[in-house]
Amino acid sequence: MKIKLTLLSSLILVSGLVKAQDSLMIRNIYDEELVNGQCYSNLHYLCKNIGQRISGSENAQKAIEWGKKLMEGYGFDKVFLQPVMVPHWVRGAKEEGAIIKGDQRISVHIAALGMSVATPKNGITAPVIEVQSLKELETLGKDAIQGKIVFFNRPFDPKFIETLYAYGTAGDQRFAGPAAAAKFGAVGVIVRSLTESLDYYPHTGATLYVKDGVNIPAAAISTIEANKLSTMLKMRSLPAVKFYFKQNCQTLPDAPSFNVVAEMKGSENPNKFITVGGHLDSWDLAEGAHDDGTGIVQSVEALRLLKVMGYKPKNSIRAVFFINEENGDRGGEKYAELANDNKEEHIAAIESDLGGFTPRGFTFEGVSPALLKSINTNWGPLLAPYGSGVLAAGGGGSDIGPLKAKSKNVVLIGYLPDSQRYFDVHHTPNDVFENVNKRELELGAASMASLIYLIDTHGLN
Ligand SMILES: [Zn+2]
Repeated sequence: MKIKLTLLSSLILVSGLVKAQDSLMIRNIYDEELVNGQCYSNLHYLCKNIGQRISGSENAQKAIEWGKKLMEGYGFDKVFLQPVMVPHWVRGAKEEGAIIKGDQRISVHIAALGMSVATPKNGITAPVIEVQSLKELETLGKDAIQGKIVFFNRPFDPKFIETLYAYGTAGDQRFAGPAAAAKFGAVGVIVRSLTESLDYYPHTGATLYVKDGVNIPAAAISTIEANKLSTMLKMRSLPAVKFYFKQNCQTLPDAPSFNVVAEMKGSENPNKFITVGGHLDSWDLAEGAHDDGTGIVQSVEALRLLKVMGYKPKNSIRAVFFINEENGDRGGEKYAELANDNKEEHIAAIESDLGGFTPRGFTFEGVSPALLKSINTNWGPLLAPYGSGVLAAGGGGSDIGPLKAKSKNVVLIGYLPDSQRYFDVHHTPNDVFENVNKRELELGAASMASLIYLIDTHGLN
């Protein structure tokens, strides 16, 4: 009995010491970041000296070269590129434009959806049919839709607390709407921008055509103008409202590109990996500051922090700048394929791709309730004082997603910032450096470095 008590008290003592060590390390990570952080100035360079960097573009290549140089400058053990072919879609040189033709002509803001085809040279003019869902197309049938422009106008559901879920449930209109409308003989598609906010920004984003389907041109319209169009369509006194739009986009042959990878070698398990990343490509309308410049600079910053702390990881730790998340996910797929070919075992992969807003915590994909409980019990109290204590079930991210199929034990983790303002800027001309807050960005980078430290030190099982 006495022995048991002694053993128990020494165990408590050891676990107390471990907690104190962890707590001190995390405090030091935050101190270093908040005093000497570099992610904000790195983001400034990426946004202002390179700017938009859609896959296959000259700017994407510049961003790759910048990323490699940045990583090399930090003196990690290894920096390398992973070649991958990517889709090369371009918006085209001539201006896009759209007009609602009712009793008067009203110019409105549109942006071609990524991967969309162009309209004919002089644009398309056709009557409009408004729908709320893909299912409604079936109810209406070919007779009602043929020869028309289908206008998908289902707004974000404001009842979701995390806006990502509103995006997820409204998103089918953009991803799949154009292909579905084409089957019923539509000549074009206009999609209400995927945002809660009411403004004049069209939000682009990829649409997916189906193999052997007819590819019709598709564009996003700003939410204010979507409301205007909807109101005009409902006014019986007006002659049939028509819509005109013109866009010049095209898909060129696939282009060579790269993921950029930095690595700190593990001292005990060099072939076991913890990966942290974001995507280097962005849409072409702005600087891709929140999507996903912030994820990129936070990922490399997490490694820099561990390095300047003098931390020697047990497992190998990587920062990955994935290419082509926006319109193909080829970078994420290539990373997983190479991990498999090289027999690398991934313990965990963390992705930051929900904007650089105030950190809340992390979401863990497909982990058992027991593991999630132990993560919360052991690490929650260490992260909560920094505002990152939400450790919940949820998604990892699309760049790290393909790792799951290749490496079944990997735990996929999504960085979870506050989501209320992300869709104000997401895929718009307003996704610029000025809309990123330095302190919020830095707190996020420090939270990612802290989680990597905890996973590397204590494992994830
Ligand atoms: Zn993104």
